[in-house]
Amino acid sequence: MAFELPKLAYSYDALEPHIDARTMEIHHSKHHAGYTNNLNTAIAGTDLENQSIEEILGNISQLSVAIRNNGGGFFNHDLFWKVMSPNGGGKPSGNLLAAIERDFGSFDFFKAEFSKAAATRFGSGWAWLVKQANGKLVVSSTANQDNPLMDIADVKGTPILGLDVWEHAYYLKFQNRRPDYISEFWEVINWEEVAKRFQD
Ligand code: MN
Repeated sequence: MAFELPKLAYSYDALEPHIDARTMEIHHSKHHAGYTNNLNTAIAGTDLENQSIEEILGNISQLSVAIRNNGGGFFNHDLFWKVMSPNGGGKPSGNLLAAIERDFGSFDFFKAEFSKAAATRFGSGWAWLVKQANGKLVVSSTANQDNPLMDIADVKGTPILGLDVWEHAYYLKFQNRRPDYISEFWEVINWEEVAKRFQD
């Protein structure tokens, strides 16, 4: 069973003015499509074709660099599209907000920690809000297309929010101004989706 490029739940221009349509189109139809196709090529004819992407990533130390890079890219972008929405922004509520306040002290402190992780990731990578096995929420960042599901990750757990800080995610609109892109991300976060992933 080949992995399929997921469709977006909104149009390429739906996140304007925060994230521009041209970047969304290239990011989804070229970059994410490329990771998906390359993942399928890398696992073709192996028993990995019968595994979920979570299973594959959890055993990534035993697998090829191509599967690590493209399997990560496949999963990470699927999460990224889903944790954004044209109706996003604001703050979480309920159990998720309570857990953020418990583990970070306040929403504003969490926001600062996550933004710092995104801004200070050198080169290409991702910032994450991670639910660890014990239920605790932590912020982390990973290089390239790695993520917290991978058995090689420094901070392991379930990523419930992720921000792509590869230049391909922001360069057309923001050029070198990664902090401005990070600020705009907060305006489109789909907290309902993040809360759903927190509860699961
Ligand atoms: Mn990307």
